[in-house]
Amino acid sequence: ATFGTLSDRLTETFRNLRTKGKLSAADVDGTVREIRRALLDADVALQVVKEFSARVRERALSDDVNKALNPAQQVVQIVNEELVGILGGEQRRLAFAKTPPTVIMLAGLQGSGKTTFAGKLARRLEKEGHTPILVAADLQRPNAVNQLQVVAERAGAAIYAPEPGNGVGDPVRVARDGVEHARRQQHDVVIIDTAGRLGVDAELMKQASDIRRVTQPDEVLFVIDAMIGQDAVNTAKAFQDGVDFTGVVLSKLDGDARGGAALSVASVTGRPIIFASTGEGLEDLEEFHPDRMASRILDLGDILTLIEQAQQAFDEEEARKVAEKFATDQFTLDDFLQQMQQLKKMGSMKKMLGMLPGMGQMKQQLDDFDEREIDRTEAIIRSMTPAERTNTKILNGSRRLRIARGSGMTVTDVNQLVTRFEQAAKMMKTVARGGTPNIPGMGAM
Ligand code: GDP
Repeated sequence: ATFGTLSDRLTETFRNLRTKGKLSAADVDGTVREIRRALLDADVALQVVKEFSARVRERALSDDVNKALNPAQQVVQIVNEELVGILGGEQRRLAFAKTPPTVIMLAGLQGSGKTTFAGKLARRLEKEGHTPILVAADLQRPNAVNQLQVVAERAGAAIYAPEPGNGVGDPVRVARDGVEHARRQQHDVVIIDTAGRLGVDAELMKQASDIRRVTQPDEVLFVIDAMIGQDAVNTAKAFQDGVDFTGVVLSKLDGDARGGAALSVASVTGRPIIFASTGEGLEDLEEFHPDRMASRILDLGDILTLIEQAQQAFDEEEARKVAEKFATDQFTLDDFLQQMQQLKKMGSMKKMLGMLPGMGQMKQQLDDFDEREIDRTEAIIRSMTPAERTNTKILNGSRRLRIARGSGMTVTDVNQLVTRFEQAAKMMKTVARGGTPNIPGMGAM
């Protein structure tokens, strides 16, 4: 019941439609039934599924469909628009106060990923030129303050925490003092981490709502673990009733995250999802785009997110130099190696490939994809002399044999690498000169 399966199922449903010439009521009903099933399997709440499929059905059967599209495209368009709608429509960005500091309060169950998100957000804000400070108002768990300290240090952010053992009992006071402290020290954003429990309880809600009252936050972000499935709706409602929130952070959207939570929470609470947290690393944070998420679910790929991530990981200056080399034919195996290392820096290749269109059907191949491939490539290139790396034309049989021995690979491995490199260089040259590359082979990788 992951996003992968959801999009696979929808793709399958649409493929069946594609063969039809004209949409009949029976086609629409059958398709809507399939969509219902796929959504329920992905743990979207029943109430949300019902409303969703009713709207899709009504629109697909109305005369208001886009006649320029074929029947399958019409349904895809309607489903896509409805998905975007459920996910909040327009992208909603973090709101900043007119007069700093902007106060951002985090709420959510224990283990939902609040502390991790606090670090990611601080890091991101810092990169954007802000001066965030973290406030440790989670005094419930013995280790929570300490954990936030570690996170703050990794993120390179300031922190306000009560001295250990110094009459620290009152999280509401710590939160209020923290905001005061931030104001005095001229931090322009305050991120307040609050206590979570394993289950929703009245005392926790009271505390959170007290913290909200005394700190008057500009944003209250409800952090929810995307993997909690059907519980998402009840938890979100409880927090909405108890504290209320201005936005949602979906955490753990990597791995086996059940896609349904995103749809359910946004639909049931009417609050926008602002961020998606996609891993344990500090950089694994994405702004949430309803339209891109909808495309992801429909397996149309998420090129924009991919490009954004690439831009973050690649040094611009470096990229410019490489592009120049491509265009002028000076791209060498050393550059190739550097590119590979950049790719590794970008994090999981699988995650990246998963965002490309059509990859939903290539799931198996994706799972078989071995990241150690990069390491093997690296070993081969390292066994080459500088002259060989600059000019692959001189790689004759005996040189290839020597390289294979030196790197512990076979001559076939070496041959394959050289061929792939030459193809990649050729393809990139086309791109650098403004042409359209032939993507399917993903040559460079
Ligand atoms: P808190 O109790 O709400 O503060 O939750 P934590 O921030 O301590 O997170 C609980 C666990 O989830 C930790 O082991 C985190 O490393 C992990 N975690 C948090 N966010 C993510 C995420 O986006 N992806 C994954 N895979 N793990 C996460």
